[in-house]
Amino acid sequence: MLNLRDLTIKSFREGLLNKSFSTFEITKFFFDFAEEKNSELNAFLSLHRDQALEAASKIDVRLAEGDDPGVLAGVPLAIKDNILVEGLPATAASKILENYSAPYDAEVIAKLKKRGAIFIGKTNLDEFAMGSSTENSAFGVTRNPHDSERVAGGSSGGSAAAVAAHMAIGALGTDTGGSVREPAAFCGVVGLKPTYGAVSRFGAIAMASSLDQIGPIAKNAEDAATLFQAIAGIDPKDSTSVDADYHDLTADPDLERIRELKIGIPDEYFGEGLDPEVRGEMEKVIEDLKSLKINLKKISLPHTKYAVAVYYLIMPAEVSTNLARYDGLRYSPPPRSGRPSLLDLYLYNRSYGFGPETKRRILLGTFALSAGYYDAYYLKAQKARSLIKKDFDEAFREVDVILAPVTPTPAFKIGEKANDPLQMYLSDIFTIPANLAGLPAVSMPVRGREGKLPIGFQLMGKPWREKDILDIGRLYERL
Ligand code: GLN
Repeated sequence: MLNLRDLTIKSFREGLLNKSFSTFEITKFFFDFAEEKNSELNAFLSLHRDQALEAASKIDVRLAEGDDPGVLAGVPLAIKDNILVEGLPATAASKILENYSAPYDAEVIAKLKKRGAIFIGKTNLDEFAMGSSTENSAFGVTRNPHDSERVAGGSSGGSAAAVAAHMAIGALGTDTGGSVREPAAFCGVVGLKPTYGAVSRFGAIAMASSLDQIGPIAKNAEDAATLFQAIAGIDPKDSTSVDADYHDLTADPDLERIRELKIGIPDEYFGEGLDPEVRGEMEKVIEDLKSLKINLKKISLPHTKYAVAVYYLIMPAEVSTNLARYDGLRYSPPPRSGRPSLLDLYLYNRSYGFGPETKRRILLGTFALSAGYYDAYYLKAQKARSLIKKDFDEAFREVDVILAPVTPTPAFKIGEKANDPLQMYLSDIFTIPANLAGLPAVSMPVRGREGKLPIGFQLMGKPWREKDILDIGRLYERL
C-alpha cells in the first residue's frame, strides 16, 4: 500500500519511472484521498477529477511510447484559486467571481503543464488574497491539518493545508505580504516567495501589483527549488519579469560554498511581541546553523518598524485600483435585473459581491490616493519603502542571507483575530519587509516539532539568490 506521506517530487518521479505506479492509478489514489479529506479541511474550493485523469492518461501514453513527459510528469499539484487554469473556476474566494471560469492559462500554469504536472484542484484563500487566515474567504475557512480548531494561515491557506495533509505533493500560492510563507509556517511545510520579477504574474488575479509574486509550497526545500525552477523566467506578457539565471538551482548544495556565506540576525526581528516559544525555537535554529559551521552576525534593519504601516498604505492603494474592474457584469454573473440605473447596478453588485475586508481595503486605498491626501499618505509611504529597501541593501554588503521568524506566534485559533483587523495585520510583521524590498524569502519548518504546532523560520536572500536560501534550507533539513 502506497503511503502518500512519503511522496516528494523526487520519490514520485522514481516511482513513476520504475513503474511502481502509473500516472492514472496514482492520480485516482490522490483524488480518493483528497475528496474525503477535503470535507474535513476545506482546503480545496473545487476538485477536478475528470480533467486530471484525462491528463494523467496522456502522460501514461507518452511514458509507454518512451517519451519523457517532463520533470514534473504526473506530479499532482494544488493551485490557489487566484491563478488561472484554463477551463477551471478562478473565484479568488470572492462572491463577485463565483461563476467565473478561466479563459486561458496563467504563464506559470502553461509552464507547469509543459513539464507534465497534473492539477488536482483550486485551493481556498482569503478573498482576493487579503488576509492571514483564510477566514476572509467567501466560501468558508480552511482548517489546519495539525489542529482543526486552528487556522491554516493565509492567504494561501488552502494550498499549504493541501500539501501538509498530503492531498497534493506541491502547490502554488501568491505572496503579497506573506501569503505563501505564513501559511507554510502554520502548516509545517516549505514556502518560497521569489524575488520580485522572477516569476511571471500573467494570469494571477492582481492584488497589489508592486508586491505580488507567485511562489511554490512544498514538502521540502528541494521540491520547492524544483517547482520554482519550473515557473521562473522572463515573460513578454509581464513587463516586470526578468531573465535571471536559475540553471543551478536544483543541483546538490555545496557545503563548502554555504560555509562561505554569512547569515545576518537582525535585532529588530527578535524584539517584543515575539512569542516565547517562537523565540526559543529561533535560538535552536541559530544553534543548528552554527553546527553546520555557517557564520552568523548581528545586524540592524532600523526602518523595520515602519514596514506594516507602509504596507497598509501602498497595498490598499494598489488594491483599490486593481479591484476597480469588478463591476459584477464583467467576468461572471449575469447582470442583476431590476436596478433602476447603471450606477445603482454597480453599487448593488459591489456591495453584494465583496466581503468586509475587501471593502475596507478599497476604502482605505481610495482615501490614501485621493487629492489632498496623496502626498501625506501614499507618497510618504513610498519614501519610507525606499528607506526599508536601503536598510536591506546596506545589510547585504555585510551578510548574504538574513534569518528571521516567519510569524510572531504559531497558528492561532479560528475566530481569535477575525474581528480585530489590526491584530491580524500584525501577524505579517516579519514577512512584509521582503515584499516591500522585492527580496526572495523562504519559510522553513523548524525541526523536531512532531506532535506540536509547527513553527517556521525565514531566510531572506539577496535579489536573484534563491539558491542561497534554498541550499541552506536543504542542509538544515539533513540535520
Ligand atoms: N496577510 C497579508 C494581507 O492581508 C498578506 C496577504 C498576501 O500576501 N496576499 O495583506
